[in-house]
Amino acid sequence: MAIRPIITLPDPALRTVSAPIERVDDELRRLMDDMLETMYAAPGVGLAAIQVGVPRRLVVLDVAEDGEERQPLCLVNPEIVTLGSEMHLHEEGCLSIPDVRVEIERPATVTVRYLDREGERNELAAEGLLATAIQHEINHLDGKLIIDFLSALKRDIVVRKFKKQARTAEAL
Ligand SMILES: [Zn+2]
Repeated sequence: MAIRPIITLPDPALRTVSAPIERVDDELRRLMDDMLETMYAAPGVGLAAIQVGVPRRLVVLDVAEDGEERQPLCLVNPEIVTLGSEMHLHEEGCLSIPDVRVEIERPATVTVRYLDREGERNELAAEGLLATAIQHEINHLDGKLIIDFLSALKRDIVVRKFKKQARTAEAL
């Protein structure tokens, strides 16, 4: 297992629409393990493959609290089957947009269909933080970021800040 670098704004790769995965094999399981280790080290509750530069439809999640036993989840080709009608407001962060938090209203419950680590079809009904995290990570697979929920003006301010940081880092 290895920790992989997480790409951040304004890297254009974050806007990629990730491609479906055709086969769940050992190579993919290695990527899952690396992504889990990267997510735990960050630390974060979810990570999409594109965030480590791999444009494939894979996300890993673990919403267990500190001190609780780990509950790693790997979702291959996740697809939302149903969204609940009740909405829930949550302040979200993103490992690819450090130090930015955005209040986002999303359905409070979600059912998702996916292939698991063994390539078996599975369905999961989620609520609370897990429901939010699943929707956030599936957004990544479609090139959508939390800043897209902001007004155009606020989004520009964030993007400009990250572009400036990137330029400063290059100049050093
Ligand atoms: Zn994110």
